[in-house]
Amino acid sequence: MTLQNFLQAKLKHFADEGLSRRLTVLESGTKPVVSYKGRPVILLSSNDYLGLASHPSVIRAAVQATEQYGSGAGASRLICGTLPPHSELESALASFKGTEAALLFGSGYLANLGVIPALIGRNGLILADRLCHASLIDGCRLSGADFRVFRHRDVDHLESLLKRRQSNRRTLIVTDGLFSMDGDLAPLTELASLARRYDAALYVDDAHGTGIMGATGRGTLEALGVEDEIPFHMGTLGKALGSSGAYVVGSEEITRYLLNTVRPFMFTTAPPPATAAAAHAALTIIQQEPERRTRLWENQVRMFHGLRRLGFRLTETVSPILPILIGDATTAFTFSEQLLAHGVYAPAVRPPTVPHDTSRIRVTVTSQHTADHLDEALQAFESAGRALRLI
Ligand SMILES: *Cc1c(COP(=O)(O)O)cnc(C)c1O
Repeated sequence: MTLQNFLQAKLKHFADEGLSRRLTVLESGTKPVVSYKGRPVILLSSNDYLGLASHPSVIRAAVQATEQYGSGAGASRLICGTLPPHSELESALASFKGTEAALLFGSGYLANLGVIPALIGRNGLILADRLCHASLIDGCRLSGADFRVFRHRDVDHLESLLKRRQSNRRTLIVTDGLFSMDGDLAPLTELASLARRYDAALYVDDAHGTGIMGATGRGTLEALGVEDEIPFHMGTLGKALGSSGAYVVGSEEITRYLLNTVRPFMFTTAPPPATAAAAHAALTIIQQEPERRTRLWENQVRMFHGLRRLGFRLTETVSPILPILIGDATTAFTFSEQLLAHGVYAPAVRPPTVPHDTSRIRVTVTSQHTADHLDEALQAFESAGRALRLI
């Protein structure tokens, strides 16, 4: 089979299964109302939960850093790419999280791809939640460790796997803090206690929790009161922090180890000064403007109850991620197209992003939506849902 035949067969398969993906250009940034093909649509799928990507001080910080340091860092962090915006952001992250140190990465995907293999290798065992983010799964696979999954949030299942392992086998437990496609939380208290009891390490990815969960936005660890139990964790800067990049926070020892070993840290150009400075400014606003989180949670409640009242089936979410379960990929895709026709942008999430037959519309609200935006969106959900006999 030639490459061309192979590509054509694959693309036909995607189309037949309702799994084709395409890029959509939104003509204005991640505001609550964006322009799509010249008309306004209510955006209900951004992870810019606090609207910080378009906050004037965040934008100013990015512009100033670019003017001062240039558009690119010019080399990897370990060669000559470490600039004041990087080290200042690392200090700010460590002080925000109450850890000794922080280490910055180019993206969450890169961090997971590199940190997991740095923490455990061929002779080790990884036990990961079945619904972990794809980047965690790829990191687990790349490590070469024996890789098993436990049922979603099922600590009994995890414990049975821990009991069955060979004694003394180095073990890493891997989980999202706030699950990206279901909006629910990992049972971090129980995971931390199992890790302690069975001498395993725990790696938590708090990409979605960072900035929004917990009384002060420090994330899912704060929300669940386990910051003292979990010595290090990872999070990202591209969601509530409105920028791009990722971090690991923890002891000075672990960050020093990671900067000596993580290949996607060592062999990639440092993040642009602008993104580091923007994330730093966003971190300051998260601490200074708690009212953004208040509005976010008000909107979460309004949308959650609105969708429930209409009769949609939601996941067991406790976050601004409000997934409407559809099942079949083609139906989910048709639903998202109908929503768009009604002025709401909320794309379908299909395999391989979510397990087979759990395709969904992943609705997210932000602090920037007004009650009117949400009420208008709920009307669109009602019309499109009725037309497709989903409600
Ligand atoms: C978005 C996400 C990532 C990837 O982070 P990027 O910075 O976008 O590469 C990793 N883990 C989880 C749980 C995520 O939701």
